[in-house]
Amino acid sequence: MSERTLTLDEKTVERFQRNILNWFRTNGRSFPWRKTRNPYRVILAEMLLQKTNVEKVLPVYKSLIKKYPNVHSLASANLRALTSQILPLGLLYRAKRMKRIAQSVVRDHNGRFPKSAKELRQLYGVGDYMTNAVRAFAFGENVPIVDTNVIRIFDRVFGLKSERPRARTDKLIWEKIGVTVPVQSSREYNLALLDFAALVCIHYSPKCHICPMQKFCNYYISLSQSVQR
Ligand code: SF4
Repeated sequence: MSERTLTLDEKTVERFQRNILNWFRTNGRSFPWRKTRNPYRVILAEMLLQKTNVEKVLPVYKSLIKKYPNVHSLASANLRALTSQILPLGLLYRAKRMKRIAQSVVRDHNGRFPKSAKELRQLYGVGDYMTNAVRAFAFGENVPIVDTNVIRIFDRVFGLKSERPRARTDKLIWEKIGVTVPVQSSREYNLALLDFAALVCIHYSPKCHICPMQKFCNYYISLSQSVQR
């Protein structure tokens, strides 16, 4: 990995932080799992949201919380009943995963979710993304949440590239995006990145015409220059 491709300009990072937080304050989405700091609810939502449309997740999340309001009720859930509840979402292996996580928390942590990255990471099926989602959204820690969509923003705006086939597993990418997380507004910033990737800097046809990053976005500047030629 060359240093050049991983250097983020400090001034541009500041403008980016300011603009994305301003954008989020007007355009951010509201979901029930964003209104809680309960790690159980946060992790449940994150599991349901994996590779799944958020609109589909909403009713399933609400019904799960109603039937299994806490980690103890989920730990003793009937697996078939739990699986049938997430049936509309597919990826049914998640039911077993949820139950096993709940069982570990009850058995090994007295029913309280651990706070350390190491212990969270040891829960069944919990990777770096989910670990940091719980740390950021439930425990308010100043950590990055990096997925393919977030990486796309940094690639386009800053030209941040990984040489790994799966950029989201690249520690250097996590590190560089982590440096941009503002200490005072880390939770808001991470949510802003998720929403910005879903609503503006989308995979196909990004909405550059309404984007507050135009003036310094590498992708947009290159595109404008190629059109002018
Ligand atoms: S200008 Fe376009 S490519 Fe750049 S961040 Fe905005 S939407 Fe994404």
